[in-house]
Amino acid sequence: MTKPKGMDAGPADIPWIAFTDACIARVEPRTDAPVVRRLAKGDTVIGDYFVDPQTDEEWVLATIDGERAYVPRWNLCRIHPGNHVTENLPYGTEIVNRWWGLPIDYEPDDLEIVPKEYCDSDPKEYPLRAEALDALLALLDAARAEDLDIRVGSAYRSGIYQVGLYTRAIDRDGPSQRYSAPPGHSEHQLGTCVDLLDAEEKFVLVDEFKTTPHSAWLESNASRFGFRRSYYPENVADTGYISEPWHWRYWGR
Ligand SMILES: [Zn+2]
Repeated sequence: MTKPKGMDAGPADIPWIAFTDACIARVEPRTDAPVVRRLAKGDTVIGDYFVDPQTDEEWVLATIDGERAYVPRWNLCRIHPGNHVTENLPYGTEIVNRWWGLPIDYEPDDLEIVPKEYCDSDPKEYPLRAEALDALLALLDAARAEDLDIRVGSAYRSGIYQVGLYTRAIDRDGPSQRYSAPPGHSEHQLGTCVDLLDAEEKFVLVDEFKTTPHSAWLESNASRFGFRRSYYPENVADTGYISEPWHWRYWGR
C-alpha cells in the first residue's frame, strides 16, 4: 500500500489512543483472529496505520507485549502534537485529518449559535467560533444579494458527539467506510467548519451539490470571506476523506 500523504504531517512515534473499552488487539487484521490483548479506554499503542488490501479495513499495526498485533483503527484516535493546547487553536494552523486529530475534549470557548434564518429546517442549533461566524454571515448575505439562499446544516460538533456518528457509520457501512471521521479527527470539532446546502434542501450532503449554482458561487467567492473547501477528489490522499463539495472551513481572512 502506498502511504497516504497526509500521514507525513507529524512524527511517527505519537501514540494512538483507545476511545472505547471495546478495543481488542489481535494477531491478524480480522475481528475473529486470536486476541493479543484487550485495551481499555485511554490505553495507548504506537504503531503504523495499515489498510488491509483484501477488506479495505483500517488497522494499526503495533508491537504489544513483544507480539505483532493489529488494533482496529476504528477504536483509536491520534492527537497531532500541535493540537495540544489549553486555549483556542489559532485559525488555519490546526492539522486535522484521518491520521491526525484533536484531543476528544477540545472545545473552543468562543462558540456562538448561527442565527436560525441562516440554517436548515432542522431545529438543532449550530455553534461556530465567533470570528468564523462573522465571516460566514457576510458570505451568506453576499450570496443572498445575488438571490442564492445558502443554508447551514452542521457546524461545530463535539468529540463525544462524533463518537456516536462514527460508531453508527461503522455499524451501517462497516470498518472500510471513509465518509465519517473518527472522534477527534473531524474538522467540525474545530468550530470553524460548516456543511452548506440549498434552502430547498434538495442537495443535502451529496456530491450532486456541486451541480448547483450555490456550489458554483461558493467555489468562486468563498475565499473572499476566508473560507476554503476542505475535501476535493484531488486531495483524498492528504485528508483521508471523500470529496465533499458542501464542507467549508474558515482559515482566517
Ligand atoms: Zn462537514
